[in-house]
Amino acid sequence: MVLLRASGLSKTYGQGRLRVEALRGVSLSVEPGEAVALMGPSGCGKSTLLNLLGLTLPVTSGELVVGGEPAPTRERERARLRNEFFGYLHQEFAIVESDTVAANVTIPLEYARPRVGRRQRLERARRVVESVGLGWALRRRAAELSGGERQRVAIARALVNEPSLVIADEPTAALDLATAGEIVTLLLSMRQLGASVLVATHDPRVAERCDRVVGMADGRLVAEETGISTD
Ligand code: ADP
Repeated sequence: MVLLRASGLSKTYGQGRLRVEALRGVSLSVEPGEAVALMGPSGCGKSTLLNLLGLTLPVTSGELVVGGEPAPTRERERARLRNEFFGYLHQEFAIVESDTVAANVTIPLEYARPRVGRRQRLERARRVVESVGLGWALRRRAAELSGGERQRVAIARALVNEPSLVIADEPTAALDLATAGEIVTLLLSMRQLGASVLVATHDPRVAERCDRVVGMADGRLVAEETGISTD
């Protein structure tokens, strides 16, 4: 079964003179267990595409199938799928600095239905935080951690609900080279847990480690022009 399938997705922002056609008929599938890199210049529509596929923005037109079913339009069902099916990872980590690592990682579990009890939430957080190598930091405040460690916290949070697809928008852009390499290794290791990964990136070093690269320009997918050298 295809995990996610988009056909002819379009997205228009604004109206009249402010109208921006950010996506113009994008078709893309993601298979279970694969990592797909989305590459293209700034402003070409990568974030918009990720937001449509991850159900954080409504499509203007086109078809989207998530886990074999048409993507729901009702907000309640979209929220449930966001929580169950997807994990999200952002460039700026989007973690709560003043909270502990454990508190940050349990956030998605607080919205899970059926409800997950407090003890089980903490236990699952502990396991996933250990799996990203931060067991020692469970009770630390996020503000006390380095950039790479914060991104590990964000990865743990993206994984705590055992998502089918992790959507990552420029997850290494705010990191130095060595740390970025470690974070990509961790991100791609999610495949062993059965998750697929869809990652928007400017960085060919990230893209070349994925199973497949999809190029994007001006709101459309373009033929494999990745700029990746194979020598
Ligand atoms: P990328 O992620 O590749 O940098 P984006 O998806 O962020 O590209 O943006 C695609 C186009 O849509 C750009 O021209 C951008 O200015 C425009 N855009 C993005 N978000 C909005 C918004 N909320 N309102 C209006 N225009 C937007």
